[in-house]
Amino acid sequence: SKRDGKARACFYTPAMQAIMLAEQTLLDELKHSATQPQDWPVLLQPQVNTDGQCVGAEVLLRWQHPTRGLLTPDQFLDQAEQAGLLIPVGYFVLRYACNWLAHWQKNNPDRTFTLSVNISPTQFRDPILLPELARIITESGVSPTGLQFEITESVLIHQLDDVVATMMAVKKWGIRWALDDFGTGYSSLSYLRRLPLAELKIDRSFIRFLASSKHDQAIVHAIAQLGNTLGFQVLAEGIETQAQWQRLKEFGCQRLQGYYFSRPLTPESFAGWLADQS
Ligand code: C2E
Ligand code: MG
Ligand code: MG
Ligand code: MG
Repeated sequence: SKRDGKARACFYTPAMQAIMLAEQTLLDELKHSATQPQDWPVLLQPQVNTDGQCVGAEVLLRWQHPTRGLLTPDQFLDQAEQAGLLIPVGYFVLRYACNWLAHWQKNNPDRTFTLSVNISPTQFRDPILLPELARIITESGVSPTGLQFEITESVLIHQLDDVVATMMAVKKWGIRWALDDFGTGYSSLSYLRRLPLAELKIDRSFIRFLASSKHDQAIVHAIAQLGNTLGFQVLAEGIETQAQWQRLKEFGCQRLQGYYFSRPLTPESFAGWLADQS
């Protein structure tokens, strides 16, 4: 009709324009925050052994948005990538993590503790990853054997030889590698024997209905057995109930992480949580 013809002449509808404006605003806000370290709170979520004792923590980034409060990564990571900020923000998190861990190691010299940091596929492929890492580690004074890096299976769609070479170089410094969200990516199991992994992290989507779903029990049990047989530690994410904890213990998971033990905490609250534990 005539009306359609007119509408077609206008490429963007008002609703589309509103969305584009909102996206542009978010990108501008991100770029502004990029120079403000206080806009990037870093949280720590405890990781425990099968007895519930803390053996480590995962570093989880937040964005303190100027008006919308504290945002989680699903609300800003894709946009940060679009704005070209994923790599600088990633190095910010790494520096923060290494400084925090160096301090922790000084105060707890006899305690075994692993701090896990998420590495985005983009950062993993950054050509200056290795020298930057070396610099951050040296400047912080951290002992790298207390560090673990988490990657997802999406890293592995690129040249596997290059991926393995990068992982080996980092492993030589004593840093451990974990495969995050295991079971949700492009799992061709053949790569598992080529990767110098220390840990498999079973994705929380398999844990959610673990207490009642026979299928999820079978999958989680099989992943735990596979991981153990290959010599990896197995960690389950997203534990929210005692029943899930019990099951995972039976299946041979050595490490657990989830709201049942603790939500992600500010570094101050983390210290308090640890003190309460012991
Ligand atoms: P992830 O690495 O798989 O981290 C675990 C996510 O599960 C976290 O979400 C954590 O808060 C959440 N979680 C932990 N326990 C439970 C539970 O019992 N129940 C439920 N429902 N959720 C639980 P968060 O902090 O929103 O992070 C989401 C994702 O964003 C992370 O998934 C990770 O892929 C990414 N991410 C977080 N921080 C960073 C970072 O510093 N750098 C990069 N590259 N990615 C990050
Ligand atoms: Mg992770
Ligand atoms: Mg995960
Ligand atoms: Mg995830």
